[in-house]
Amino acid sequence: MKSIRLREGKERSLQRRHPWVFEGSVAKGRADPGETVRVEAHDGRFLAWGAYSPASAIRVRAWSFVESERIDTAFFARRLQCAVALRARLAVDSDAVRLVHGEADGLPGLVVDRYGDTLVAQFGFVGTERWKDTIADALLAATGLQRLYERSDLGVRKLEGLPEQRGWLRGDGDTRLTLREHGWQLQVDVASGHKTGAYLDQRDNRLHFAQAVRHFGCDQVLNCYSYTGGFTLAAMAGGARRVTSVDSSAPALALARHHVQINRFDADRHEAVDADVNAHLRQQLEQGRQFDAIVLDPPKFAASVAQVERAARAYKDINRLALKLLRPGGLLFTFSCSGGIGPELFHKIVAGAAIDACVDAAIVRHLHAAPDHPSTLFFPDGEYLKGLALLRAG
Ligand code: SAH
Repeated sequence: MKSIRLREGKERSLQRRHPWVFEGSVAKGRADPGETVRVEAHDGRFLAWGAYSPASAIRVRAWSFVESERIDTAFFARRLQCAVALRARLAVDSDAVRLVHGEADGLPGLVVDRYGDTLVAQFGFVGTERWKDTIADALLAATGLQRLYERSDLGVRKLEGLPEQRGWLRGDGDTRLTLREHGWQLQVDVASGHKTGAYLDQRDNRLHFAQAVRHFGCDQVLNCYSYTGGFTLAAMAGGARRVTSVDSSAPALALARHHVQINRFDADRHEAVDADVNAHLRQQLEQGRQFDAIVLDPPKFAASVAQVERAARAYKDINRLALKLLRPGGLLFTFSCSGGIGPELFHKIVAGAAIDACVDAAIVRHLHAAPDHPSTLFFPDGEYLKGLALLRAG
C-alpha cells in the first residue's frame, strides 16, 4: 500500500473530515491514477484512505477516515447500500431521485440518479473511474435494477486526464424516459439531457413555486432559463393565466411546449421565447411589461473561485432587471448554483440588485437543493444550490 505524507500542519482539514487533499499539502509520495493510498500526517499518523489523482490539483479524495476499513468491493457495496437506504427513508415524491450525491454520500466524484427503472451515473475522477465496474455491479445489486447509463461527459474529467464518456454500462434500450414529479409528467433523454437528463435538485422548489403562484394569485409569470419547462408546469399548475418560458436552447423550449401539452394545460396560456435572458429582460422593460411572478434559474455563472466577481455582477444584473419587471407585491424565485457563491454572498448580491432597482422586497423563503442532494457537516463546498423567494413590496 502506497502512502502519501502531508506537510506539517496540513492534516487539519482531513481531521475535520473534509475529503480533499490539495497538491500543495503533499510532502511526498505518489501512486497510479485512482490507486488507493494511505494518507498520513507529517509524523506518520493515519488520516485517511483515499484515491490518488496525479494530474489534478485535488491530489487525493478520501474514501474513508477509519484505519481498519478496506477499500474493496464490499466497501463500495456498503456505501451504495447506505446511499440508497437514505433515499428510501426520504420518500421522495417522484420516480426520479438522486441516489448518490458524491462527497455527501462518502463517494467523492460519483453521482447517480434513478429515472424509473434506469440508473444514470457520472464518474467524475480517476478514483471512481478505476472502480467503475465494481460500482456498476454494486449499484444494480443495491437497487435491483438492470439498466445503467453512463454520463461521464464532464468537463472536470479533463483535469484528471480522462476522456468524456457516455453510453450503456449495463443493459440497453431507449434512453428517452417519462418521469413523474408532483403529478406532472416530464420527458427526459438520459443520453442528451443536461446533467444526467434533468434538474432533479429543483424538484421541491418547483412545488414551492406552484404553491406560491396559487397562494398569491399570480397571473402573468416569466420563467427565465426555463430549460424544458419544469417551473412553467409549476406556474400553470398553480393557476397562472399566462406563462412565458425563456431559454437560449431551441430543443429545450420545444420540449417545454411538449410538456405543456402532455400535462393537458392550455397551450394558448404558454409562450416559449428563444432568447438570451438578459437581453429579453431589457426588452420587456423597454416595452413596459410587468409580471406577477418571475423565476431566475441561470446556469452556473462562476465555474471557479476566479470567476466569482464577474459572476456576481452577472447575477446582480439579471436580479435588478427582474425586480424592476415585477409588479408591486410580485413574487421572485431567484437562484444561484455556483459553488463559489455562498448563501450569504448571494443574499448580498440580490440586496444590491434591489437597491439598484429602487425596490424593497421581503424574503419569504430560503431555497435549497432537494434533500436527496444532501450536503454534509464536513463538506460545505457541496452546498451549491441556493435561492431566495422574495415578495416585492406593494
Ligand atoms: N429551471 C430549469 C433548469 C435551468 S438550467 C429546470 O427547473 O429544469 C439553465 C438553463 O439556462 C439551460 O436550459 C440553458 O439552456 C439556459 N441558458 C444558459 N444561458 C442562457 C442565456 N444566456 N439565456 C437564456 N438561457 C440560457
